[in-house]
Amino acid sequence: MTDLTRLTIAEALKGLKRRDFTATELVEAYLDAMAAGRALNAYVVETPDKALEMARESDERLARGEARPLEGIPIGVKDLFATRGVHTQACSHILDDFKPTYESTVTANLWNDGAVMLGKLNMDEFAMGSSNETSYYGPAINPWRRKDSEEKLVPGGSSGGSAAAVAARLCAGATATDTGGSIRQPAAFTGTVGIKPTYGRCSRWGIVAFASSLDQAGPIARTVKDAAILLTSMAGHDEKDTTSANVPVPDFAAAATQERDLKGMRIGIPKEYRVEGMPEEIDRLWQQGAAWLAERGAEIVEVSLPHTKYALPAYYIVAPAEASSNLARYDGVRYGLRVEGDDLIGMYENTRAEGFGAEVKRRVLIGTYVLSAGYYDAYYLKAQKVRTLIRRDFEKAFEQVDALLTPATPSAAFPLGAMTDDPLQMYLNDIFTVTVNMAGLPGISVPAGFSAEGLPLALQIIGRPFDEETLFTVAAHVEDAAGLDLDPPQWWK
Ligand code: GLN
Repeated sequence: MTDLTRLTIAEALKGLKRRDFTATELVEAYLDAMAAGRALNAYVVETPDKALEMARESDERLARGEARPLEGIPIGVKDLFATRGVHTQACSHILDDFKPTYESTVTANLWNDGAVMLGKLNMDEFAMGSSNETSYYGPAINPWRRKDSEEKLVPGGSSGGSAAAVAARLCAGATATDTGGSIRQPAAFTGTVGIKPTYGRCSRWGIVAFASSLDQAGPIARTVKDAAILLTSMAGHDEKDTTSANVPVPDFAAAATQERDLKGMRIGIPKEYRVEGMPEEIDRLWQQGAAWLAERGAEIVEVSLPHTKYALPAYYIVAPAEASSNLARYDGVRYGLRVEGDDLIGMYENTRAEGFGAEVKRRVLIGTYVLSAGYYDAYYLKAQKVRTLIRRDFEKAFEQVDALLTPATPSAAFPLGAMTDDPLQMYLNDIFTVTVNMAGLPGISVPAGFSAEGLPLALQIIGRPFDEETLFTVAAHVEDAAGLDLDPPQWWK
């Protein structure tokens, strides 16, 4: 039998229905791949017993002809999603031994549709980072390496484990979250597809909160179609999250095809995204992407998003501010780590000092500072105003165009340790992605080429609120035009 981990989700669903193989065989193939791929440190916990039990149920349903939309599809879950009875630590020491008694809505939606859980995936601590290097469990490793080099590269972050596992075929697809780029940037670094849906499209209930007004869940998958299949199951209104939108969920997979015409579609190229110091190969990729879409009937229009340059600084006020508030709950009293002290305050201080890593502490300090009396107006309030201006820029642009095309990241994946001593350099990774979170819009990252060193590079498509369908269609055209072989050599085996 061919290696079942090579199949896309769309192909595996067909094969399972035709009974070419069983859900149990599919899961076993992934469990073997996971065991062979531990050098990538993509999983922080494997749940083989659960996976096999869920696969058995899927096989029974398939035999009865009662298959659900994702019946038997093996999925990895970012460690940020609460999974009942299973390790959920946001890859932080402070949540030691936390096993929730409840399931996040997004993962519950996946299991209700028949997906099978393989384990929990590595990530930056509390989703703060762009390289997966702030994880308490050590970094996940990018399956891609530069030509003729054995140097280890980061998979991006914060959903680095999700992206690495999908790229290395250690799961068929994965859940991820994106507060400032954490789905799209790791997808770009690993040659996978990642979509951050519109704010409110997926419920945030049961997802460990980072910055609640920015956080959104979405899938990372190997193809545009697979990402669409996963998002269809993950999305939906949820009364347990007041910011979850009560709008119908279309069949995104139907839109994820290059057979849908681009004629009459207007695609905007925001000129402010041509940032200083952008490598030439990124600029070339961007122009190539625009040329592909033009060849396929779209009209390419230059647009202006004048407040773009303020997005990153404003994000690094808003996100830490919300994080400092959200992370106040980790005090050693209710769950997770407790480090004793002389008195209650001492216990709080010792627990937080030992439980949080350096990047999380930096964010809590910045966030507390910008929210403190006397600084609130100068920083937090001003950042909120900038946020409104950024949203208005997009609203104006979408009066002229149906979607925007930009690079996904300013570079290809970089070596481990390359930016760990320079947080500002690390933050610049998010330059093309944070604007979308600030405005609550959907954005998809789709592989579009390779760097001179042989690493995947990606383009981003940004759309109107709740118009993920257009993103999937445009991304399907980019994927088709690029025609890339996105199978990294399996050096880890
Ligand atoms: N890299 C960004 C940060 O560190 C975004 C993280 C995210 O999207 N979760 O805040």
